[in-house]
Amino acid sequence: MQKFCSKKYNILYPYKKKLYLNITNRCPIKCSYCIKYKWQWKFRSHYLKLAKEPSFKEIILLLSKYNINKYKEIVFCGYGEPFMRFYLLKKVAQWIKKNYPKTKIRVNTNGLGNVINKQNVCKSLNKIIDTISVSFNAHNETVYSKLHKTKISRPLQKIIGFIKNCKKYVNNVTITTIQHPLIDKEKIKSTAKKLGVNFRNRKYLNQYEPK
Ligand code: SF4
Repeated sequence: MQKFCSKKYNILYPYKKKLYLNITNRCPIKCSYCIKYKWQWKFRSHYLKLAKEPSFKEIILLLSKYNINKYKEIVFCGYGEPFMRFYLLKKVAQWIKKNYPKTKIRVNTNGLGNVINKQNVCKSLNKIIDTISVSFNAHNETVYSKLHKTKISRPLQKIIGFIKNCKKYVNNVTITTIQHPLIDKEKIKSTAKKLGVNFRNRKYLNQYEPK
């Protein structure tokens, strides 16, 4: 845990037998339901506002303090979009796979990694990332733009392209949605079916939950 002002912030934290990596707070979209704002940068008692983005060395040092084999999975998640730091993500995942080949690695993403990096990042995920979980959170572009602020045009179309690409290189691809009155969950479920990926419903988080 590192110090930020008077608060200690987390780059790596355990939660439900998994280890979570919070590598950036940057994000190319602003979701109306994002809990980093609602929960004032806290997540289940972990404070996730980074004073500075961690380097590869810092992350490895932190990972080395844990008995990695004890954890079911390592998840790139945190309060920011992990693909904002694609090269670092790749380097850390390669290191984990080299040193702990049995450890599963997941990336939770908004699905805009290819747009952010102006390249097909999915190709590089082959053999280093086991699961990609994409927050879909809208059944069409109109609903998407109501719930998300972004400069990216036709984001949902780009997210679908990302999912199709990920399918070629990553074993498990899941799309998720929160339960929200504007979102038609059934339509997203059938999109998942058409794309041949898994679907998972997520709880809509509002009030702060410390555990
Ligand atoms: S993509 Fe994630 S981190 Fe970015 S604003 Fe949305 S919920 Fe928050």
